[in-house]
Order: sequence, then C-alpha cells, then structure tokens
Amino acid sequence: MLTDSIKILKGIGEKRQKSLNDMGIYTIKDLLYHFPYKYKDISQKEFFENKVNGDEIAANVKVTGKPFYRRVNKSLNYLSFYLTDGKTKCKCTLFNQQYYLGKINPGDEFILIGIVKKEKNAFEVINPKIIYPDENTPDIITQYRLPNTIKQKSFEKLIVKALDSINGKLDETLPAAVLTNYNICDLNIAVRQIHFPESMVSLADAQYRMAFEEMYFFIMLLRRIRKNNQVKSPIPIKYSDQELTNFLNALPFKMTNAQRKATDEILIDIAGKNPSSPIMNRLLQGDVGCGKTVVAMAAIYITFINGYQSALMAPTEILAMQHYDECRKILEPLGVKTALLTSSLSAAEKSEIRERLLSGRIDLLVGTHAIIQSSVIFSNLALAVTDEQHRFGVNQRALLSQKNEYCHMLVMSATPVPRTLALIIYGDLDISTIDELPPGRKKVHTRIVSNEKRNDMYKYISENIKDGQQSYIVCPLIEESDKLDALSVSELYKELKNGHFAGISIGLLHGKMSDEEKNRMLNDFSSGKLRALISTTVIEVGVNVPGATIMVIENAERFGLAQLHQLRGRVGRNDKESWCFMTTGSNNAASTERLKIMTQTNDGFVISEKDLELRGPGQFLGMKQSGLLDTRVLALINNYELVARVKEAADKTENGELGKIQDIVFNLALSRYESQIKDIVLN
Ligand code: ADP
Ligand code: MG
Repeated sequence: MLTDSIKILKGIGEKRQKSLNDMGIYTIKDLLYHFPYKYKDISQKEFFENKVNGDEIAANVKVTGKPFYRRVNKSLNYLSFYLTDGKTKCKCTLFNQQYYLGKINPGDEFILIGIVKKEKNAFEVINPKIIYPDENTPDIITQYRLPNTIKQKSFEKLIVKALDSINGKLDETLPAAVLTNYNICDLNIAVRQIHFPESMVSLADAQYRMAFEEMYFFIMLLRRIRKNNQVKSPIPIKYSDQELTNFLNALPFKMTNAQRKATDEILIDIAGKNPSSPIMNRLLQGDVGCGKTVVAMAAIYITFINGYQSALMAPTEILAMQHYDECRKILEPLGVKTALLTSSLSAAEKSEIRERLLSGRIDLLVGTHAIIQSSVIFSNLALAVTDEQHRFGVNQRALLSQKNEYCHMLVMSATPVPRTLALIIYGDLDISTIDELPPGRKKVHTRIVSNEKRNDMYKYISENIKDGQQSYIVCPLIEESDKLDALSVSELYKELKNGHFAGISIGLLHGKMSDEEKNRMLNDFSSGKLRALISTTVIEVGVNVPGATIMVIENAERFGLAQLHQLRGRVGRNDKESWCFMTTGSNNAASTERLKIMTQTNDGFVISEKDLELRGPGQFLGMKQSGLLDTRVLALINNYELVARVKEAADKTENGELGKIQDIVFNLALSRYESQIKDIVLN
C-alpha cells in the first residue's frame, strides 16, 4: 500500500528510517515521489575537445598513468591520475575517496561523469562519478538529493523495492478523459520512468505527466477555495463622465493613456458592469513609477461620491504615510475626508479614528496592517485597495476584504509577475497593466562598481551632490528584526560623514527608528534639506522623492533582481539624468551575470522573468519557500503553452466536459497540496 510506512521495506533499519524521515519521507508514496533532480544520458559518448570550462561530460575513458596519492592531513587526502577519452588527455583528482586507493590502475576503463575544468588547453575533472559498465548499466544515470548518510546506489535499491511492493498499482489520479485529451502517460509508467528512464524521450513524457498532474490539482484547489470565498451581491458604484472629469482636473498632471485605460477598467468593475465578475477582483500591475496610486485614487473618489468608504493598505509605515500625504493633497480638496491609522498612534488617537470610522465621518482610511484588526470597523466599506500586494501575507489581504463581504478589491503591484505564474496564482483575477511611464522619465543609467572603484564612485557622487543632486545609498542587511541592520547602515553613515560626504548634510534611515524619526528623515530628504540618505531597504517599496537622481546599492549581489529593480525605481523620477550604481565585492561569476541583467534592461517584466528563472517562484508568492512549486514544476512554469493547457484542462474538468473525477481520488490528490496552497491563495 502506498500509505504503508517505509519500515515495511527490507533494508530499512531504525537509523535509515530516521534519515529518510528527516527528508520528509515516511510512506512508500513519499519515497516514490522523491524524484531524481538530475539525469545524464550516457548512451551518447562525449569528448573533452567539445567541452568548455564548466560543462558536464559523460565520457568513456582509459587510465593512462599511475595514480598519485597524497595525504595532506587528517581530513584531507587526494588521489590523482591521468586518463584519456581516446583523443584528449585529462587529469582526474579524487578528494577524500580512499575507497579508490589501489583500485585504479593504468589501462582501466570506465565511464566518467563530471564537470570539466578547462584552463588554456589543460583539462581536469574533480570528484567525478565513476561507473564500471556492465550489461545492467542504464543509458541514463540519475542523481537524487540525499543526505550524506544515504548513498545514491542504496536509495535506488529502495526505490526498486518500493516499486515492487506496489507492483504497478498506483491509482490513477487524473480523469481518463484528461489523459487521452492531453496525451498524458499512465501514472504507473510515469513513476517508473522518472526513477529508471529508458530514454530521454520516455523521461520527458513522465516529467510532463507529473508536472501536469501537480499543476492541475494546484489550480483545481485554488478554484475550490475561491469558490467557497465567493461574495454575494456587491455594491454597485456608479459614476458619470462629469464626476470622473472633476477628478482628472484635480490632478497636477495629465494621466497617461495606460493610466486612463486602467482607470476605466476599474470603474467598470466597481459599477458591476464586468461580465465576468459582479464584484471587482483586480490586480493593477505596472512598473515602479508608472503611477498606480492616482488610478486607485480615481476609484476611491468615485466610491466617495457614491457615499461609501474606502481603505488603502500599505506594507510599511513610510509608504502608508506617503500615501496619506498624497491622497490628502489630491482628494481632500474634493471633499474626501482622509485619515491615517498605523500601529504607532497612541491608544487615544486610534480610538478616536475608530470612532469616526464607525460613524462614517472618514471616507478614506489609509494605513498599515493596523487597519485589518478586528477592532477597526467601517460603517460602509465598499473598496479595499492593497498596495505592493506581494508584501502582504494572503491572510492579511483576505481579512481586509472580509471587513465587508460586498467589498470591491484592488491589489496593486510593481513586481510584475511572469505571465505563466500570473496565470496560476491570479487564475481568475482580472489584471490591468500600466505599461507606460509618465512622459519625461528617463532611463536610469546602471553600472556595476567593483571594490576598487568604490572610492571613485563616492567622490563622483559627492561632486554631484554639491552640484545640486540628491542620492540614496542602500545597505544590504535586510530583515528589520536583524540586530545587525542598524549597525551596518550606521557604519556606512559614519564612514561617509567623516569621509567623502564631509560637509554634506546626510541622513540615516532604518527599520529600528521610531516612525516619527523615519518620517522626519524622509521629509527632510524630500524637501531637499538632506542631500543623501543612507538607508536599509525600508525605502524599497513605493517611496517617492522625485528630486533624488542617484541610487547606490551596496553589496548588490545580496539582493534579488526584482528587489534591485524596485530600489532603482526610486530614482529616474524627474527629467534629469539618473544613475544607479551597484557595488559588489563578489567575484562570483553567477552573481556578476545576474547583476549584468540590471545594466541591460529597465523593463520590470524582463527582470521578473529572469528572477523567476534564477531564484524560483517563492518570492512572487509572498513566501520564502514554496515547497510545492518546486524543482519539478519549475521547469513547467517557464513553459507558458503548457501551463495554459493545464489551465484549460482544469476549466474543462470543472465544467464537466472531461467526465467526473471520483471524489475520493480527487480529495486524496488535493490533500497533498492543501497546506501549501492555503498560504498563497489571494482571497
Ligand atoms: P507607482 O506606480 O510606482 O506606485 P506612483 O503612483 O508612486 O508610482 O507615482 C510615481 C510618481 O509619478 C508620483 O509622484 C506621481 O504623482 C507621479 N505621476 C503619476 N502619474 C503621473 C502622470 N501621468 N504624469 C506625471 N506624473 C505622474
Ligand atoms: Mg506605489
């Protein structure tokens, strides 16, 4: 039985069982679903001459020289020898593998799988996999992620036993019609081929199937949860052209076409005129600085005209305060009574706001997560806007919309979600995209600055500051709870104050400061009193100081691409040339490669696709680790056509076009994903 404990397999003692449990493997099924993470086809023999540094190779080789052994100390020894693939000589070094001592001799032949190190024309392979082939050697060699305590070979043996124990009797999880319509192979075949592929083609079929299945149930479960949360009948928020014109005329600028289009889409939604949904459930996405806030304000204004309340929730105090200021500037002259609620208000202030809110004397409440506390009760909330939605846990968003179950929901994000992911996680959310920046904005020039050039950079910046520019300088230590956080920005602050920025008025900003202090710093920077702001990433999200034209990001290699893009978006907000300097002490090729992407594009979408490729989907889903959308599915996520097909299959199943899935099979499959999915459902 699949649900049997792995204990029943021969060869699993207490110690091994514990090792497997530690990996999350308890049952036969868990074991069978622990797939290899790497495959190497050794049926096509390869040659060193065709490889560049860093390539993987699988070659038939012959040992040419007598091995040399050296014991460096108690914990380090190595065995080194030369071999040839028939064309090219290569050095092979085995570290700490005494097992091979005396076993490798000139003339020996084996298959070698490893990573090629190539310097000039000399080849070396370190710690390769060595296979002495016999008639049982498969064409495709697999590799599992395993702790040191479990050897690849013995894990493979366990898989064989597990497969034997269930004897091809895995219950099919996908409806038969899905299998035939989408050309998907049987589960039993797939699981066997995933572990012991006969060819790369059968492996691809098997992987396709497993990924399809995973994504399919993932989408089905999302649907099911959303359905349960579906609202009754929403409040229609009507508007006239005249009212919209009044709002547009109150703006200090003309909306871009993209902003106008998004505004129209939103107003149609809240009027209840969107045929696909009677209530607004919309994602408003657009690159940093494209002007999402005023689009939200248009909806807030119209909601106010209809006599209803709105809420605007921001992920940080700074951003909430800034939104509050901007909303007041534009909306108060139009009669919208606005209040700010953050956790740093005094108890008396909070209770005063709650009282006004409940009695309907506040039209717009701006705030942090403080506004979703149960003590905060609106008199007639009709529109809930959350900014930078990926920063909020799903539960927080859900709570806000539950303040009134008829509430229209708008989420805003400057982290463009790659479209494959959007399709999955925003399945039935409508999406508006602002794909245009306000006129006059200039591309931010972006440079990578090595350690040696760091002094020159600060010298250049100090000259620019004396010339009237303003600069942000960001340090990497991120978590606001991190004790080191304040220390490291203050260090840089001191360094600059006593060095390059001597005589320049500079400020310090980090998450440990009181909100009053933070606000004062930001105001002083905004008003131009401070010429440079040394900050942690508290300024990452949304902060808007149009006068700043230089962004320095220290230790940029520590940040994700999406985050770098956010930070860079703080500058380039006026008609002057803007610069983004990313310093890095790292010589790591991969991280330099990553930073280079920033110098090549200013397009948030391109950057997010790259980020997805490089760092996985967890960050987009608002959680650190996404167990589910893991290695297996990641390959699929980058394949838009495939995701679209899975979504179609899920739609058709839902409509009953593909027959009915047996409840018991369905629920069993769903139960695997439930806990993980709960974390990321939008509403
Ligand atoms: P984001 O989309 O990143 O949240 P904001 O809403 O903060 O961007 O807008 C960035 C800045 O651009 C703000 O100062 C805002 O007032 C200004 N802005 C927005 N729309 C326009 C426009 N159409 N023309 C000129 N400036 C605009
Ligand atoms: Mg914003």
